[in-house]
Amino acid sequence: MSATLIDGKGFAASVREKVATHVARLKDEHGITPGLAVVLVGEDPARQVYVRNKGKQTVEVGMNSIEHKLNADTPEDVLLDLIATLNADPEVHGILVQLPFPGHLDEDLVINSIDPAKDVDGFHFSNVGLLSTGQRSIVPCTPLGCLMMLRAHHGSLSGLDAVVIGRSNIVGKPMANLLLGDSCTVTIAHSRTKDLTEVVRRADIVVAAVGRPEMIPGDWIKPGPTVIDVGINRIDAPEKGDGKTRLVGDCDFARFSGFAGAITPVSGGVGPMTIACPLANTVTACRRANGLAEPDGLTA
Ligand code: NDP
Repeated sequence: MSATLIDGKGFAASVREKVATHVARLKDEHGITPGLAVVLVGEDPARQVYVRNKGKQTVEVGMNSIEHKLNADTPEDVLLDLIATLNADPEVHGILVQLPFPGHLDEDLVINSIDPAKDVDGFHFSNVGLLSTGQRSIVPCTPLGCLMMLRAHHGSLSGLDAVVIGRSNIVGKPMANLLLGDSCTVTIAHSRTKDLTEVVRRADIVVAAVGRPEMIPGDWIKPGPTVIDVGINRIDAPEKGDGKTRLVGDCDFARFSGFAGAITPVSGGVGPMTIACPLANTVTACRRANGLAEPDGLTA
């Protein structure tokens, strides 16, 4: 059996198209242009490229992109003042503060200073609480992207056995809550889980968010499940030449392809959805701020 490849790149393009349609409607019918503000603290080149790409996609879908680049030694009160200004700005509907922060900043304090209605990363404790109690919230982008792909592939997820490997606040826990919300029977596995092989073997859906290169071998799964590989791990690739590297997931993709029913590749799987979903969340936040109905196909 050869697994169906879930094309996250193509899926992300379709999410951006939907976002662009919603943005055009907001402009034409209501005279509103959604605005996404991204705050980057520090000069890390990889994060600068990531923020630049987000800004480019924001403009491409017709939204306003507001970028704030702060020095790595920016005092906490200056960052909090900037967030307060963005919270109060009616033209800003979504705020992202790029993680991780330099060590002198209190991550929880900064994230929880964002207006929860504009928290398009979905990390504010209000949004976390709303999601875990099954209420309307803003959902973290990586799990939202995974859920969208799972729904598109399966239709209904009701009654399926889902195993989420990893219990982080940004991926594992919200992913488990979303799957529970779609009536899966959910198991969350982590580094202390006993007999992970047996836990994984009973799954109809496996979401791997561990951060260990190819840790999960293909023969752990029963034939046919859907595998969402969130992990992004850089490993040496001597076959490409001296000093070269390549990206791999948490699952041994080559072997999984023989057992799984469907699988996301690394790269081109979950990653592009993580970049597209803040745009979807900004449209959602903008529509809610203006008392409009939820946007079709962009929410959990
Ligand atoms: P964290 O390091 O915060 O969490 C990793 C989780 O994996 C922890 O819960 C940990 O368990 C668990 N774990 C570690 N070792 C094992 C093991 N041997 N067996 C079972 N569970 C284990 O990572 P994140 O959730 O932030 O990210 C996970 C991966 O996803 C990373 O590779 C990251 O780069 C990637 N990622 C990719 C994104 C994308 O867009 N594709 C977006 C976000 C993340 P414990 O809690 O017990 O320590």
